[in-house]
Amino acid sequence: MSLDRMIKKAYELICDRRIEQISDDTYNVIGMHGTYTVVKGSDGSITCSCPGFLTKKRCSHSLAVMMLMQPRLLAGVKREIEREERKAKR
Ligand SMILES: [Zn+2]
Repeated sequence: MSLDRMIKKAYELICDRRIEQISDDTYNVIGMHGTYTVVKGSDGSITCSCPGFLTKKRCSHSLAVMMLMQPRLLAGVKREIEREERKAKR
């Protein structure tokens, strides 16, 4: 999956409210193929329990949590996606 598509998927996870914070640094993300646990380490690194993260070191779940934790990043992604959708409608 390209990073672009991954970001879009992450944004959809947020819009669909599929992310649940269960402690200060732990989130459950209900993905299309199962529920995964995203954990923020004390060094700020983010890991996910899904198979994709194991091999690629990134996934839509961990991206979604990153976006939730950084409202400015989320706002930027939202702007970008809305602009693309307007373009697609023309
Ligand atoms: Zn994941």
